[in-house]
Amino acid sequence: MCKKQESASSSKQTSASSPTPVATPVAVATPKITKPVVDQTAQVIIFCYHRLVDKIRYPGTEITPAAFEAQMKELKDRGITVISLQDLLAWKRGEKNIPARSAVITFDDGWKSQYEVAWPIMKKYGYPFTMFIYTEGVRGGTLGGGEAITWEQLADLRDNGVDIQDHTATHQDLREGHTITVAPPGGKRTRTKLTGQQYEDWMRNEVVGSKDLLEQRLGIKVNSFAVPFGNYNDHVKEIARNSGYEAMFTVYGQPITFTSPMDSIGRYAIEANKPKVFDDAVKMIATSSGGGAAVAEVGAKDLSTQPADGETVRTALPLIKANLSGVGQIDPGSVQMRVSGLGVVPASFDPKTGTVSYQVTQKLHDKSCSVIVSAKSQGKKVEAHWTFGVEQGATAGTSPVATPKK
Ligand SMILES: [Zn+2]
Repeated sequence: MCKKQESASSSKQTSASSPTPVATPVAVATPKITKPVVDQTAQVIIFCYHRLVDKIRYPGTEITPAAFEAQMKELKDRGITVISLQDLLAWKRGEKNIPARSAVITFDDGWKSQYEVAWPIMKKYGYPFTMFIYTEGVRGGTLGGGEAITWEQLADLRDNGVDIQDHTATHQDLREGHTITVAPPGGKRTRTKLTGQQYEDWMRNEVVGSKDLLEQRLGIKVNSFAVPFGNYNDHVKEIARNSGYEAMFTVYGQPITFTSPMDSIGRYAIEANKPKVFDDAVKMIATSSGGGAAVAEVGAKDLSTQPADGETVRTALPLIKANLSGVGQIDPGSVQMRVSGLGVVPASFDPKTGTVSYQVTQKLHDKSCSVIVSAKSQGKKVEAHWTFGVEQGATAGTSPVATPKK
C-alpha cells in the first residue's frame, strides 16, 4: 500500500503546497506609505509534487528523488528564481517585487517522503516551499496511514519557515451532487451523494473546518487553498473567499501573471510518467520573457553608452549609441535597439567598431528615456538597459547632426 489511504481514484491529486513562511510586508506607519513598484511583467510557474520514492509504482503521483533534484537544479541553471508562495501573493497585492522569471514549489497531500526526502533537497538549494495538507490525511487521521506526515513533522517544518496551507479535510470532489465517502465518527465509511443543507455542512467543513484545524493545531495563518483534483465551482469559490482564503490553487498549469485571477491559480503537477510537463513549463516562462535562452545582463557602463546612464540631455532628438565590442563576438544580424516610446528602432551596427547607434528622428516626449540593446554573442543573448533624462522644453534645434554610418 503506498497510498496513505486515499481512495484508489485519487491517484491524481491537485492542489499545491506552499512553502514559505509568511513574509507579509506590512508597510509600517509613517503617514506616507509608499508601495514598491512591482514588475507587472514578471511571470511565475508553480509546480506541484506528491510523493518522492526510489521505485515508482504510481507514476501519476510519484517522482524519484533523483529526478526531483535534477528539476530543482535545472531551475537554478536556467536562472529561474524559486520564490515563496507568500512572496507570489505579496507581488499580486502590489507589495513586493519578484524576479521576472520565478517559480514556486508546492507539495500536496502531506506524505512523509516530503519531509524526509524532499525537504533536505530543498534545503540544499535554499528554496522555500509550501505544503498543502488535507487534515484527515495527517498521520492518525481517518485517512492518514503509515506513509503520511505527522503533526510533529508539520510543526518542525513550520518552525523552519516552511509554509503550510490547506487542501481540505478529506480530499474529495467539493461540488454538490458528486459521490463522496463519508465516515461519521465511529461509523462505517459509506459512499453517498449529499445535497442541500447536508452538502453545505459537509463542504463547509472541508473548506473552512480544515482551515480552522490547521490554524489552531499549528498556530499559523492559512490564506491559501488547493482544490482537490482541481474540481470546484463558483459556490465553492465563494465559500472559500468568504472564509479568509486569499488564493485558490488548481492543477491546470500555466504561467501566472500579475493579472491572473486569484481564485484559480494554475500549477503544473509533476509526475514520473509525464516528464514533459516540467520541460514545457520551464520553456513557457523562458519564451514568454522573450528569448528562449537565458539572458546575460551587461552593465551600461561597460558599453560607453551615449547618452550615459543617468545623464540628462538637452535635446529631444538625441543620438543614441552603445559600444558592444567588450561583450565578445557579436552576431551582427542579432543586434536590436529598443527605445521607450518608440519601440524597436532601425539602429545601425558597425561590426568593425562594435558600435550600435540610432539617431532619434521623432521627438522624445517623456522626461526620461530607457534604451534596451540586445544581441547574440556566441549563441547567448546579452542585453543592456539604461536610462537617460530629457530636459523639459528641449527642442530638436540642438540635436546633433550626424547620422551614424551604416
Ligand atoms: Zn491532493
